[in-house]
Amino acid sequence: MCGIFGYIGKKINAGEIVFEGLKFLEYRGYDSWGVAVMPSEVNPKKNSEIFIEKKAGKIGTSTISDMPRANISFGHTRWATHGKVTTINAHPHLDCTKRIALVHNGIIENYEEIKRKLIKKGHKFISETDSEVAVHLIEDYMKSMDIESATRHAFLEFEGLNAFIVMNSGDEKILAVRNGSPLVIGYGKNENFLASDASAILTHTRTVHFINDFEMAILSKEKIIVKNVHTARLVLAKRVNLDWKTDFSDLGQYPNFMFKEINEQSQLIFNIAKSSAKLIQEIADIIKTRKNCYLLGCGSASYVAIAGSYLFAKLAKKQMNPAVGSEFGYQLDFLNKDSLVIALSQSGETMDILESVKKAKENRASIVAITNTVGSTLYREADYKLPLNAGIEISVASTKALTAKLSYLILIAHALAGNMKEGNNMLLKAGRSTEKLLGKDSLKKIKKLAKKLKNSKNIFVIGRGLSYPASLETAIKIKEIAYIHAEGMAAGELKHGPLALVEKGTPCISFLPNDETYGANLAGAMEMKARRGFIIGISAKPHEVFDYYLHVEDAGVATIIPNIITGQLLAYYLATIKNLDPDKPRNLAKSVTVK
Ligand code: GLU
Repeated sequence: MCGIFGYIGKKINAGEIVFEGLKFLEYRGYDSWGVAVMPSEVNPKKNSEIFIEKKAGKIGTSTISDMPRANISFGHTRWATHGKVTTINAHPHLDCTKRIALVHNGIIENYEEIKRKLIKKGHKFISETDSEVAVHLIEDYMKSMDIESATRHAFLEFEGLNAFIVMNSGDEKILAVRNGSPLVIGYGKNENFLASDASAILTHTRTVHFINDFEMAILSKEKIIVKNVHTARLVLAKRVNLDWKTDFSDLGQYPNFMFKEINEQSQLIFNIAKSSAKLIQEIADIIKTRKNCYLLGCGSASYVAIAGSYLFAKLAKKQMNPAVGSEFGYQLDFLNKDSLVIALSQSGETMDILESVKKAKENRASIVAITNTVGSTLYREADYKLPLNAGIEISVASTKALTAKLSYLILIAHALAGNMKEGNNMLLKAGRSTEKLLGKDSLKKIKKLAKKLKNSKNIFVIGRGLSYPASLETAIKIKEIAYIHAEGMAAGELKHGPLALVEKGTPCISFLPNDETYGANLAGAMEMKARRGFIIGISAKPHEVFDYYLHVEDAGVATIIPNIITGQLLAYYLATIKNLDPDKPRNLAKSVTVK
Protein backbone atom coordinates (compact mmCIF):
# COMPACT_ATOMS: atom_id res chain seq x y z
CA MET A 1 0.00 0.00 0.00
CA CYS A 2 1.06 3.66 0.12
CA GLY A 3 2.07 5.92 -2.72
CA ILE A 4 5.61 7.20 -3.10
CA PHE A 5 6.79 9.85 -5.53
CA GLY A 6 10.23 11.42 -5.82
CA TYR A 7 11.88 14.09 -7.98
CA ILE A 8 15.45 15.29 -8.45
CA GLY A 9 16.37 17.67 -11.26
CA LYS A 10 16.87 21.19 -12.58
CA LYS A 11 13.36 22.42 -11.83
CA ILE A 12 12.98 24.44 -8.66
CA ASN A 13 9.40 23.48 -7.88
CA ALA A 14 10.25 19.91 -6.87
CA GLY A 15 7.78 20.00 -3.97
CA GLU A 16 4.90 20.82 -6.29
CA ILE A 17 5.91 18.18 -8.83
CA VAL A 18 5.91 15.61 -6.02
CA PHE A 19 2.61 16.87 -4.61
CA GLU A 20 0.97 16.48 -8.05
CA GLY A 21 2.45 12.98 -8.34
CA LEU A 22 1.02 12.07 -4.94
CA LYS A 23 -2.47 13.11 -6.04
CA PHE A 24 -2.30 10.47 -8.73
CA LEU A 25 -0.95 7.82 -6.33
CA GLU A 26 -3.49 8.50 -3.60
CA TYR A 27 -5.54 5.43 -4.56
CA ARG A 28 -2.71 3.41 -2.96
CA GLY A 29 -3.27 4.89 0.50
CA TYR A 30 -5.11 7.96 1.73
CA ASP A 31 -4.91 7.99 5.52
CA SER A 32 -2.49 10.92 5.37
CA TRP A 33 0.07 12.54 3.07
CA GLY A 34 3.34 14.40 3.28
CA VAL A 35 6.13 15.97 1.23
CA ALA A 36 9.80 16.63 2.07
CA VAL A 37 12.06 19.06 0.19
CA MET A 38 15.82 19.26 0.55
CA PRO A 39 17.47 22.61 1.10
CA SER A 40 19.85 23.30 -1.77
CA GLU A 41 21.48 26.17 -3.60
CA VAL A 42 18.03 27.39 -4.70
CA ASN A 43 16.75 27.04 -1.19
CA PRO A 44 19.46 27.94 1.35
CA LYS A 45 17.94 27.31 4.73
CA LYS A 46 19.25 27.85 8.21
CA ASN A 47 20.87 24.72 9.68
CA SER A 48 20.08 22.93 6.41
CA GLU A 49 17.06 21.27 7.99
CA ILE A 50 14.75 19.40 5.66
CA PHE A 51 11.39 21.08 5.11
CA ILE A 52 8.38 18.85 5.65
CA GLU A 53 4.70 19.44 5.12
CA LYS A 54 2.27 16.69 6.12
CA LYS A 55 -1.33 16.24 7.10
CA ALA A 56 -3.75 13.55 8.26
CA GLY A 57 -6.61 12.75 5.88
CA LYS A 58 -7.00 12.67 2.11
CA ILE A 59 -5.22 15.26 -0.01
CA GLY A 60 -8.65 16.56 -1.09
CA THR A 61 -8.45 20.29 -1.63
CA SER A 62 -5.16 20.75 0.27
CA THR A 63 -2.45 22.86 -1.34
CA ILE A 64 1.25 23.32 -0.65
CA SER A 65 1.65 26.89 -1.75
CA ASP A 66 4.20 27.76 0.95
CA MET A 67 6.66 25.02 0.02
CA PRO A 68 10.23 26.41 -0.35
CA ARG A 69 11.84 26.31 -3.78
CA ALA A 70 13.88 23.16 -4.19
CA ASN A 71 15.05 20.71 -6.78
CA ILE A 72 15.00 17.57 -4.63
CA SER A 73 11.83 16.26 -3.06
CA PHE A 74 9.82 13.17 -2.25
CA GLY A 75 6.44 12.42 -0.73
CA HIS A 76 4.16 9.69 0.53
CA THR A 77 0.48 8.83 0.90
CA ARG A 78 0.03 6.50 3.86
CA TRP A 79 -1.98 3.38 4.57
CA ALA A 80 -1.35 3.03 8.28
CA THR A 81 -0.13 -0.27 9.67
CA HIS A 82 1.63 0.89 12.86
CA GLY A 83 0.31 3.93 14.66
CA LYS A 84 -2.91 5.88 14.35
CA VAL A 85 -3.87 8.06 11.43
CA THR A 86 -2.42 11.37 12.67
CA THR A 87 -0.27 14.13 11.24
CA ILE A 88 2.69 13.10 13.43
CA ASN A 89 2.52 9.53 12.15
CA ALA A 90 2.30 10.70 8.53
CA HIS A 91 5.44 10.33 6.42
CA PRO A 92 8.10 11.67 5.71
CA HIS A 93 9.84 11.05 9.04
CA LEU A 94 12.97 12.87 10.21
CA ASP A 95 15.96 11.84 12.30
CA CYS A 96 16.99 13.71 15.49
CA THR A 97 18.97 16.34 13.54
CA LYS A 98 16.15 16.90 10.99
CA ARG A 99 18.72 16.48 8.23
CA ILE A 100 17.70 12.99 7.11
CA ALA A 101 14.18 12.34 5.79
CA LEU A 102 12.60 9.02 4.92
CA VAL A 103 9.37 7.57 3.54
CA HIS A 104 8.51 3.92 3.92
CA ASN A 105 6.22 1.33 2.40
CA GLY A 106 5.77 -1.92 4.29
CA ILE A 107 6.25 -3.20 7.80
CA ILE A 108 9.51 -3.41 9.78
CA GLU A 109 8.72 -6.57 11.68
CA ASN A 110 11.57 -6.23 14.21
CA TYR A 111 11.13 -2.50 14.81
CA GLU A 112 10.46 -2.74 18.55
CA GLU A 113 13.77 -4.35 19.34
CA ILE A 114 15.70 -1.83 17.18
CA LYS A 115 13.75 1.06 18.67
CA ARG A 116 14.65 -0.01 22.22
CA LYS A 117 18.34 -0.04 21.32
CA LEU A 118 18.15 3.36 19.63
CA ILE A 119 16.32 4.92 22.59
CA LYS A 120 19.08 3.65 24.87
CA LYS A 121 21.56 5.40 22.61
CA GLY A 122 19.64 8.64 23.06
CA HIS A 123 17.49 8.85 19.93
CA LYS A 124 14.21 10.73 20.39
CA PHE A 125 11.10 9.29 18.73
CA ILE A 126 8.02 11.37 18.13
CA SER A 127 5.73 9.04 16.16
CA GLU A 128 4.18 5.63 16.84
CA THR A 129 5.27 4.22 13.48
CA ASP A 130 7.67 1.42 12.70
CA SER A 131 9.02 3.67 9.90
CA GLU A 132 10.62 6.23 12.19
CA VAL A 133 13.00 3.52 13.43
CA ALA A 134 14.52 3.37 9.96
CA VAL A 135 15.49 7.03 9.81
CA HIS A 136 17.06 6.94 13.27
CA LEU A 137 18.98 3.76 12.50
CA ILE A 138 20.37 5.39 9.34
CA GLU A 139 21.31 8.44 11.43
CA ASP A 140 23.11 6.15 13.86
CA TYR A 141 25.06 4.36 11.13
CA MET A 142 25.98 7.72 9.61
CA LYS A 143 28.20 8.43 12.58
CA SER A 144 30.74 6.15 10.90
CA MET A 145 29.78 5.94 7.23
CA ASP A 146 28.14 7.82 4.35
CA ILE A 147 24.39 7.90 3.65
CA GLU A 148 24.62 5.17 1.04
CA SER A 149 26.35 2.60 3.27
CA ALA A 150 24.24 3.63 6.25
CA THR A 151 21.02 3.03 4.30
CA ARG A 152 22.28 -0.34 3.07
CA HIS A 153 23.29 -1.48 6.55
CA ALA A 154 20.03 -0.32 8.10
CA PHE A 155 17.98 -1.96 5.35
CA LEU A 156 19.67 -5.30 5.83
CA GLU A 157 18.92 -5.20 9.53
CA PHE A 158 15.17 -5.05 9.00
CA GLU A 159 12.87 -8.05 8.87
CA GLY A 160 9.80 -7.87 6.63
CA LEU A 161 8.99 -6.57 3.18
CA ASN A 162 9.87 -2.92 2.79
CA ALA A 163 10.78 -0.05 0.52
CA PHE A 164 12.50 3.13 1.73
CA ILE A 165 13.31 6.44 0.11
CA VAL A 166 15.91 8.52 1.88
CA MET A 167 17.50 11.97 1.55
CA ASN A 168 20.28 13.55 3.57
CA SER A 169 20.58 17.31 3.58
CA GLY A 170 23.64 18.37 1.63
CA ASP A 171 23.93 15.10 -0.34
CA GLU A 172 22.37 15.98 -3.69
CA LYS A 173 20.76 12.62 -4.25
CA ILE A 174 17.79 10.42 -3.41
CA LEU A 175 18.27 6.81 -2.36
CA ALA A 176 15.63 4.15 -2.95
CA VAL A 177 15.85 0.60 -1.74
CA ARG A 178 13.33 -2.23 -1.80
CA ASN A 179 12.48 -5.77 -0.89
CA GLY A 180 8.91 -6.62 -1.76
CA SER A 181 7.23 -3.24 -2.09
CA PRO A 182 7.04 -1.91 -5.66
CA LEU A 183 9.26 0.96 -6.84
CA VAL A 184 10.07 2.20 -10.31
CA ILE A 185 12.62 4.80 -11.43
CA GLY A 186 12.05 7.08 -14.40
CA TYR A 187 14.88 8.52 -16.54
CA GLY A 188 14.37 12.14 -17.62
CA LYS A 189 16.64 14.76 -19.15
CA ASN A 190 18.60 16.47 -16.38
CA GLU A 191 15.97 15.13 -14.02
CA ASN A 192 14.97 11.76 -12.63
CA PHE A 193 11.89 10.35 -10.94
CA LEU A 194 10.75 7.55 -8.77
CA ALA A 195 7.32 6.24 -7.87
CA SER A 196 5.51 3.23 -6.56
CA ASP A 197 3.51 3.00 -9.79
CA ALA A 198 4.94 3.71 -13.26
CA SER A 199 1.67 5.34 -14.39
CA ALA A 200 2.46 8.23 -12.05
CA ILE A 201 5.61 9.23 -13.94
CA LEU A 202 4.41 8.69 -17.50
CA THR A 203 3.67 12.36 -18.04
CA HIS A 204 7.36 13.07 -17.26
CA THR A 205 9.13 10.13 -18.90
CA ARG A 206 8.43 6.75 -20.44
CA THR A 207 11.87 5.25 -19.86
CA VAL A 208 11.88 3.32 -16.62
CA HIS A 209 13.57 0.60 -14.61
CA PHE A 210 11.48 -1.49 -12.21
CA ILE A 211 13.65 -1.79 -9.12
CA ASN A 212 14.15 -5.43 -8.13
CA ASP A 213 14.31 -6.85 -4.64
CA PHE A 214 17.55 -5.94 -2.85
CA GLU A 215 18.48 -3.27 -5.34
CA MET A 216 19.31 0.25 -4.32
CA ALA A 217 18.86 3.11 -6.77
CA ILE A 218 20.86 6.30 -6.28
CA LEU A 219 19.26 9.15 -8.14
CA SER A 220 21.05 12.41 -8.91
CA LYS A 221 20.10 15.11 -11.43
CA GLU A 222 22.20 13.69 -14.22
CA LYS A 223 22.20 9.99 -13.59
CA ILE A 224 20.82 6.97 -11.84
CA ILE A 225 23.03 4.23 -10.44
CA VAL A 226 21.64 0.88 -9.33
CA LYS A 227 23.50 -1.33 -6.83
CA ASN A 228 23.03 -4.65 -5.16
CA VAL A 229 22.20 -3.99 -1.51
CA HIS A 230 24.15 -6.97 -0.21
CA THR A 231 27.37 -6.45 -2.16
CA ALA A 232 27.22 -2.73 -3.04
CA ARG A 233 28.24 -3.77 -6.55
CA LEU A 234 26.78 -2.01 -9.59
CA VAL A 235 23.80 -3.67 -11.25
CA LEU A 236 22.85 -3.13 -14.86
CA ALA A 237 19.46 -1.39 -14.84
CA LYS A 238 17.06 -2.90 -17.36
CA ARG A 239 15.58 0.17 -19.02
CA VAL A 240 12.18 -0.30 -20.65
CA ASN A 241 10.12 2.10 -22.67
CA LEU A 242 6.47 2.06 -21.68
CA ASP A 243 3.85 2.68 -24.35
CA TRP A 244 1.00 2.94 -21.83
CA LYS A 245 -1.80 5.45 -22.35
CA THR A 246 -1.82 8.59 -20.22
CA ASP A 247 -5.46 9.66 -20.47
CA PHE A 248 -6.47 7.51 -17.50
CA SER A 249 -6.92 10.31 -15.00
CA ASP A 250 -9.53 12.01 -17.17
CA LEU A 251 -13.01 11.41 -15.74
CA GLY A 252 -14.78 12.74 -18.83
CA GLN A 253 -18.55 12.67 -18.31
CA TYR A 254 -18.37 10.52 -15.15
CA PRO A 255 -18.66 11.69 -11.54
CA ASN A 256 -16.02 9.28 -10.23
CA PHE A 257 -13.67 6.49 -11.32
CA MET A 258 -15.78 3.61 -10.10
CA PHE A 259 -18.74 4.58 -12.30
CA LYS A 260 -16.40 5.27 -15.21
CA GLU A 261 -14.71 1.90 -14.83
CA ILE A 262 -18.05 0.06 -14.47
CA ASN A 263 -19.19 1.69 -17.69
CA GLU A 264 -16.05 0.73 -19.58
CA GLN A 265 -16.82 -2.95 -19.14
CA SER A 266 -19.07 -3.68 -22.15
CA GLN A 267 -16.43 -2.37 -24.57
CA LEU A 268 -13.69 -4.20 -22.70
CA ILE A 269 -15.56 -7.51 -22.93
CA PHE A 270 -16.02 -6.98 -26.69
CA ASN A 271 -12.29 -6.27 -27.02
CA ILE A 272 -11.35 -9.41 -25.09
CA ALA A 273 -13.74 -11.47 -27.22
CA LYS A 274 -11.63 -10.44 -30.19
CA SER A 275 -8.25 -10.75 -28.46
CA SER A 276 -5.28 -12.82 -29.57
CA ALA A 277 -6.37 -16.45 -29.96
CA LYS A 278 -2.72 -17.49 -30.08
CA LEU A 279 -1.89 -16.34 -26.57
CA ILE A 280 -5.09 -17.83 -25.13
CA GLN A 281 -4.38 -21.15 -26.84
CA GLU A 282 -0.79 -21.12 -25.56
CA ILE A 283 -2.00 -20.80 -21.96
CA ALA A 284 -4.63 -23.51 -22.53
CA ASP A 285 -1.92 -25.82 -23.90
CA ILE A 286 0.24 -25.28 -20.82
CA ILE A 287 -2.72 -26.11 -18.57
CA LYS A 288 -3.27 -29.30 -20.57
CA THR A 289 0.24 -30.55 -19.75
CA ARG A 290 0.01 -29.99 -15.99
CA LYS A 291 -1.21 -32.58 -13.52
CA ASN A 292 -2.34 -30.09 -10.91
CA CYS A 293 -3.43 -26.53 -11.52
CA TYR A 294 -4.27 -23.75 -9.12
CA LEU A 295 -6.05 -20.46 -9.58
CA LEU A 296 -4.79 -17.99 -7.03
CA GLY A 297 -6.33 -14.66 -6.05
CA CYS A 298 -7.05 -12.31 -3.14
CA GLY A 299 -10.37 -10.61 -2.37
CA SER A 300 -12.46 -10.28 -5.52
CA ALA A 301 -9.81 -12.14 -7.53
CA SER A 302 -10.24 -15.14 -5.20
CA TYR A 303 -13.88 -15.22 -6.27
CA VAL A 304 -12.76 -15.15 -9.91
CA ALA A 305 -10.61 -18.16 -8.98
CA ILE A 306 -13.68 -19.99 -7.64
CA ALA A 307 -15.61 -19.08 -10.80
CA GLY A 308 -12.66 -20.42 -12.81
CA SER A 309 -12.85 -23.77 -11.03
CA TYR A 310 -16.50 -24.11 -12.12
CA LEU A 311 -15.73 -22.97 -15.68
CA PHE A 312 -12.86 -25.39 -16.21
CA ALA A 313 -14.80 -28.30 -14.70
CA LYS A 314 -17.89 -27.56 -16.74
CA LEU A 315 -16.36 -26.63 -20.08
CA ALA A 316 -13.07 -28.53 -20.21
CA LYS A 317 -13.50 -31.32 -17.62
CA LYS A 318 -10.32 -30.07 -15.97
CA GLN A 319 -9.81 -29.80 -12.24
CA MET A 320 -8.69 -26.34 -11.30
CA ASN A 321 -8.13 -25.69 -7.60
CA PRO A 322 -9.10 -22.22 -6.38
CA ALA A 323 -6.86 -20.80 -3.66
CA VAL A 324 -6.72 -17.66 -1.52
CA GLY A 325 -3.40 -15.82 -1.71
CA SER A 326 -2.93 -15.31 2.03
CA GLU A 327 -3.57 -19.01 2.76
CA PHE A 328 -1.87 -20.74 -0.14
CA GLY A 329 1.56 -20.53 1.45
CA TYR A 330 0.39 -22.86 4.22
CA GLN A 331 -0.79 -25.57 1.83
CA LEU A 332 1.60 -25.64 -1.06
CA ASP A 333 4.15 -28.18 0.16
CA PHE A 334 2.85 -30.70 -2.36
CA LEU A 335 3.58 -28.49 -5.39
CA ASN A 336 6.16 -29.86 -7.82
CA LYS A 337 7.34 -29.49 -11.40
CA ASP A 338 4.00 -30.81 -12.69
CA SER A 339 2.11 -28.00 -10.97
CA LEU A 340 0.86 -24.80 -12.50
CA VAL A 341 -0.15 -21.75 -10.51
CA ILE A 342 -2.27 -19.19 -12.35
CA ALA A 343 -1.99 -16.00 -10.33
CA LEU A 344 -4.68 -13.34 -10.70
CA SER A 345 -3.74 -9.83 -9.61
CA GLN A 346 -4.87 -6.46 -10.91
CA SER A 347 -1.75 -4.64 -9.75
CA GLY A 348 0.65 -7.57 -10.02
CA GLU A 349 2.02 -6.34 -6.68
CA THR A 350 -0.40 -8.05 -4.25
CA MET A 351 1.97 -9.19 -1.54
CA ASP A 352 0.04 -12.33 -0.57
CA ILE A 353 0.17 -13.43 -4.21
CA LEU A 354 3.85 -12.62 -4.64
CA GLU A 355 4.78 -14.50 -1.48
CA SER A 356 2.82 -17.58 -2.61
CA VAL A 357 4.33 -17.40 -6.09
CA LYS A 358 7.82 -17.25 -4.61
CA LYS A 359 7.19 -20.39 -2.57
CA ALA A 360 5.53 -22.14 -5.53
CA LYS A 361 8.61 -21.40 -7.64
CA GLU A 362 10.86 -22.82 -4.94
CA ASN A 363 8.83 -26.03 -5.35
CA ARG A 364 9.47 -25.85 -9.13
CA ALA A 365 5.87 -25.07 -10.10
CA SER A 366 5.37 -22.90 -13.20
CA ILE A 367 3.60 -19.58 -12.92
CA VAL A 368 1.08 -17.90 -15.21
CA ALA A 369 0.47 -14.22 -14.43
CA ILE A 370 -2.93 -12.79 -15.32
CA THR A 371 -2.47 -9.14 -14.42
CA ASN A 372 -3.42 -5.66 -15.48
CA THR A 373 0.08 -4.32 -14.90
CA VAL A 374 2.75 -5.12 -17.45
CA GLY A 375 6.14 -4.77 -15.74
CA SER A 376 4.78 -5.48 -12.26
CA THR A 377 6.65 -7.87 -9.97
CA LEU A 378 4.21 -10.70 -10.72
CA TYR A 379 4.53 -10.08 -14.45
CA ARG A 380 8.31 -10.21 -14.23
CA GLU A 381 8.37 -13.29 -12.01
CA ALA A 382 5.95 -15.36 -14.13
CA ASP A 383 6.92 -17.97 -16.71
CA TYR A 384 3.87 -17.17 -18.83
CA LYS A 385 2.18 -13.80 -19.00
CA LEU A 386 -1.34 -12.75 -19.93
CA PRO A 387 -1.89 -8.98 -19.66
CA LEU A 388 -5.51 -7.97 -19.03
CA ASN A 389 -5.24 -4.78 -21.09
CA ALA A 390 -8.16 -3.36 -19.12
CA GLY A 391 -6.59 0.10 -18.87
CA ILE A 392 -5.51 1.46 -15.52
CA GLU A 393 -8.04 0.91 -12.75
CA ILE A 394 -8.09 3.73 -10.21
CA SER A 395 -11.13 3.02 -8.07
CA VAL A 396 -10.06 0.94 -5.07
CA ALA A 397 -12.89 -1.58 -5.57
CA SER A 398 -11.98 -3.61 -8.62
CA THR A 399 -14.58 -3.72 -11.40
CA LYS A 400 -13.24 -3.86 -14.95
CA ALA A 401 -10.04 -5.74 -14.06
CA LEU A 402 -12.21 -8.34 -12.39
CA THR A 403 -14.54 -8.91 -15.33
CA ALA A 404 -11.50 -8.91 -17.65
CA LYS A 405 -9.98 -11.77 -15.61
CA LEU A 406 -13.26 -13.67 -15.81
CA SER A 407 -13.53 -13.04 -19.55
CA TYR A 408 -10.05 -14.46 -20.14
CA LEU A 409 -10.79 -17.52 -18.01
CA ILE A 410 -13.93 -18.13 -20.08
CA LEU A 411 -11.81 -17.99 -23.25
CA ILE A 412 -9.04 -20.21 -21.85
CA ALA A 413 -11.50 -22.84 -20.59
CA HIS A 414 -13.15 -22.92 -24.03
CA ALA A 415 -9.75 -23.10 -25.74
CA LEU A 416 -8.81 -26.03 -23.49
CA ALA A 417 -11.99 -27.77 -24.63
CA GLY A 418 -10.98 -27.07 -28.24
CA ASN A 419 -13.86 -24.68 -28.68
CA MET A 420 -12.47 -21.17 -28.65
CA LYS A 421 -15.09 -19.87 -31.10
CA GLU A 422 -17.86 -20.70 -28.66
CA GLY A 423 -15.96 -18.79 -25.98
CA ASN A 424 -15.79 -15.73 -28.24
CA ASN A 425 -19.54 -15.96 -28.87
CA MET A 426 -20.30 -16.22 -25.17
CA LEU A 427 -18.28 -13.10 -24.50
CA LEU A 428 -19.99 -11.20 -27.28
CA LYS A 429 -23.30 -12.14 -25.68
CA ALA A 430 -22.01 -11.03 -22.27
CA GLY A 431 -20.91 -7.72 -23.82
CA ARG A 432 -24.37 -7.14 -25.29
CA SER A 433 -26.08 -8.12 -22.04
CA THR A 434 -23.78 -5.67 -20.19
CA GLU A 435 -24.62 -2.90 -22.65
CA LYS A 436 -28.33 -3.35 -21.86
CA LEU A 437 -27.58 -3.45 -18.15
CA LEU A 438 -25.78 -0.13 -18.41
CA GLY A 439 -28.73 1.46 -20.25
CA LYS A 440 -30.73 4.28 -18.66
CA ASP A 441 -33.82 2.30 -17.61
CA SER A 442 -31.84 -0.53 -16.11
CA LEU A 443 -29.65 1.89 -14.12
CA LYS A 444 -32.77 3.65 -12.86
CA LYS A 445 -34.16 0.37 -11.54
CA ILE A 446 -30.96 -0.53 -9.76
CA LYS A 447 -30.76 2.95 -8.23
CA LYS A 448 -34.36 2.66 -7.02
CA LEU A 449 -33.47 -0.63 -5.34
CA ALA A 450 -30.46 1.00 -3.69
CA LYS A 451 -32.78 3.67 -2.22
CA LYS A 452 -34.92 0.90 -0.71
CA LEU A 453 -31.92 -0.91 0.76
CA LYS A 454 -29.86 2.04 1.97
CA ASN A 455 -30.74 1.60 5.67
CA SER A 456 -30.35 -2.17 5.70
CA LYS A 457 -28.14 -3.65 8.38
CA ASN A 458 -27.61 -7.01 6.63
CA ILE A 459 -28.01 -8.19 3.06
CA PHE A 460 -27.96 -11.82 1.96
CA VAL A 461 -26.75 -12.81 -1.48
CA ILE A 462 -27.21 -16.38 -2.72
CA GLY A 463 -26.33 -18.38 -5.81
CA ARG A 464 -25.30 -21.84 -6.94
CA GLY A 465 -22.66 -22.94 -9.40
CA LEU A 466 -21.17 -19.90 -11.13
CA SER A 467 -23.61 -17.70 -9.23
CA TYR A 468 -21.96 -18.71 -5.96
CA PRO A 469 -18.79 -16.66 -6.66
CA ALA A 470 -21.07 -13.94 -8.12
CA SER A 471 -22.80 -13.82 -4.71
CA LEU A 472 -19.50 -13.60 -2.85
CA GLU A 473 -18.37 -10.80 -5.14
CA THR A 474 -21.62 -8.82 -4.78
CA ALA A 475 -21.40 -9.10 -1.00
CA ILE A 476 -17.81 -7.88 -0.82
CA LYS A 477 -18.61 -4.88 -3.02
CA ILE A 478 -21.57 -3.90 -0.81
CA LYS A 479 -19.38 -4.22 2.27
CA GLU A 480 -16.37 -2.35 0.96
CA ILE A 481 -17.97 0.68 -0.59
CA ALA A 482 -21.44 0.98 1.02
CA TYR A 483 -20.37 -0.17 4.52
CA ILE A 484 -23.37 -2.50 4.85
CA HIS A 485 -22.82 -5.98 6.15
CA ALA A 486 -23.56 -8.38 3.31
CA GLU A 487 -23.09 -12.11 3.22
CA GLY A 488 -22.62 -14.02 -0.01
CA MET A 489 -23.05 -17.76 0.06
CA ALA A 490 -23.82 -20.95 -1.77
CA ALA A 491 -27.62 -21.10 -1.64
CA GLY A 492 -27.51 -24.68 -0.37
CA GLU A 493 -25.66 -23.50 2.74
CA LEU A 494 -28.53 -21.26 3.87
CA LYS A 495 -30.28 -24.01 5.76
CA HIS A 496 -27.05 -24.97 7.55
CA GLY A 497 -27.03 -21.82 9.61
CA PRO A 498 -27.43 -18.39 8.00
CA LEU A 499 -31.20 -18.77 7.54
CA ALA A 500 -31.53 -18.17 11.28
CA LEU A 501 -30.73 -14.51 10.60
CA VAL A 502 -33.43 -13.94 7.98
CA GLU A 503 -36.40 -12.06 9.38
CA LYS A 504 -39.16 -9.80 8.14
CA GLY A 505 -37.81 -7.49 5.45
CA THR A 506 -34.21 -8.88 5.34
CA PRO A 507 -32.98 -8.16 1.80
CA CYS A 508 -32.11 -11.43 0.03
CA ILE A 509 -30.51 -11.14 -3.42
CA SER A 510 -30.79 -14.25 -5.51
CA PHE A 511 -28.93 -14.89 -8.78
CA LEU A 512 -31.07 -16.97 -11.10
CA PRO A 513 -29.48 -17.36 -14.52
CA ASN A 514 -30.92 -19.76 -17.11
CA ASP A 515 -28.72 -22.67 -16.16
CA GLU A 516 -28.83 -25.93 -14.25
CA THR A 517 -28.92 -24.07 -10.92
CA TYR A 518 -32.21 -22.26 -11.57
CA GLY A 519 -34.63 -24.61 -9.80
CA ALA A 520 -32.49 -25.29 -6.74
CA ASN A 521 -31.56 -21.66 -6.29
CA LEU A 522 -35.18 -20.61 -6.60
CA ALA A 523 -35.87 -22.98 -3.72
CA GLY A 524 -33.36 -20.96 -1.67
CA ALA A 525 -35.23 -17.76 -2.51
CA MET A 526 -38.49 -19.48 -1.48
CA GLU A 527 -36.97 -20.53 1.85
CA MET A 528 -36.04 -16.91 2.56
CA LYS A 529 -39.45 -15.69 1.40
CA ALA A 530 -41.12 -18.14 3.79
CA ARG A 531 -39.19 -16.34 6.59
CA ARG A 532 -40.56 -13.02 5.25
CA GLY A 533 -37.31 -11.95 3.60
CA PHE A 534 -37.44 -9.28 0.86
CA ILE A 535 -36.49 -11.21 -2.29
CA ILE A 536 -34.53 -9.50 -5.05
CA GLY A 537 -34.32 -11.70 -8.14
CA ILE A 538 -31.55 -11.14 -10.71
CA SER A 539 -32.56 -13.18 -13.70
CA ALA A 540 -33.50 -13.23 -17.38
CA LYS A 541 -37.14 -13.80 -16.43
CA PRO A 542 -39.40 -12.54 -13.61
CA HIS A 543 -40.91 -14.85 -11.00
CA GLU A 544 -43.75 -14.35 -8.55
CA VAL A 545 -41.47 -14.98 -5.58
CA PHE A 546 -39.51 -11.82 -6.35
CA ASP A 547 -40.38 -8.68 -4.39
CA TYR A 548 -38.02 -6.78 -6.70
CA TYR A 549 -36.81 -7.90 -10.10
CA LEU A 550 -33.65 -6.90 -11.97
CA HIS A 551 -33.45 -8.13 -15.52
CA VAL A 552 -30.15 -9.54 -16.81
CA GLU A 553 -30.15 -10.90 -20.32
CA ASP A 554 -28.86 -14.44 -20.65
CA ALA A 555 -25.31 -14.97 -21.98
CA GLY A 556 -24.82 -18.68 -21.27
CA VAL A 557 -21.88 -19.43 -18.96
CA ALA A 558 -20.79 -15.80 -19.37
CA THR A 559 -23.97 -14.57 -17.61
CA ILE A 560 -21.82 -14.42 -14.49
CA ILE A 561 -20.27 -11.25 -15.97
CA PRO A 562 -23.43 -9.10 -16.24
CA ASN A 563 -24.62 -10.63 -12.95
CA ILE A 564 -21.49 -9.41 -11.20
CA ILE A 565 -21.83 -6.00 -12.86
CA THR A 566 -25.39 -5.77 -11.49
CA GLY A 567 -23.87 -6.29 -8.03
CA GLN A 568 -21.25 -3.61 -8.72
CA LEU A 569 -23.94 -1.13 -9.71
CA LEU A 570 -26.07 -1.86 -6.67
CA ALA A 571 -23.06 -1.38 -4.36
CA TYR A 572 -22.14 1.80 -6.25
CA TYR A 573 -25.60 3.35 -5.88
CA LEU A 574 -25.81 2.32 -2.22
CA ALA A 575 -22.52 4.15 -1.62
CA THR A 576 -23.41 7.32 -3.51
CA ILE A 577 -26.91 7.53 -1.98
CA LYS A 578 -25.20 7.38 1.42
CA ASN A 579 -22.84 10.17 0.28
CA LEU A 580 -19.78 7.93 0.48
CA ASP A 581 -16.79 8.23 -1.83
CA PRO A 582 -16.95 5.04 -3.94
CA ASP A 583 -13.38 5.49 -5.19
CA LYS A 584 -11.72 5.61 -1.78
CA PRO A 585 -13.52 3.45 0.77
CA ARG A 586 -12.47 3.90 4.40
CA ASN A 587 -9.65 1.76 5.82
CA LEU A 588 -8.79 0.28 2.43
CA ALA A 589 -6.34 1.00 -0.40
CA LYS A 590 -5.60 -0.39 -3.80
CA SER A 591 -2.57 -2.56 -4.52
CA VAL A 592 -2.22 -4.46 -1.25
CA THR A 593 1.53 -4.57 -0.83
CA VAL A 594 1.63 -5.65 2.80
CA LYS A 595 1.03 -9.16 4.19
N1 GLU B 1 4.25 0.83 8.34
C1 GLU B 1 4.27 2.19 7.92
C2 GLU B 1 3.26 3.03 8.68
O1 GLU B 1 2.35 2.52 9.29
C3 GLU B 1 4.14 2.37 6.42
C4 GLU B 1 2.74 2.19 5.94
C5 GLU B 1 2.59 2.34 4.42
O2 GLU B 1 3.12 1.49 3.70
O3 GLU B 1 1.87 3.28 4.02
O4 GLU B 1 3.37 4.22 8.66
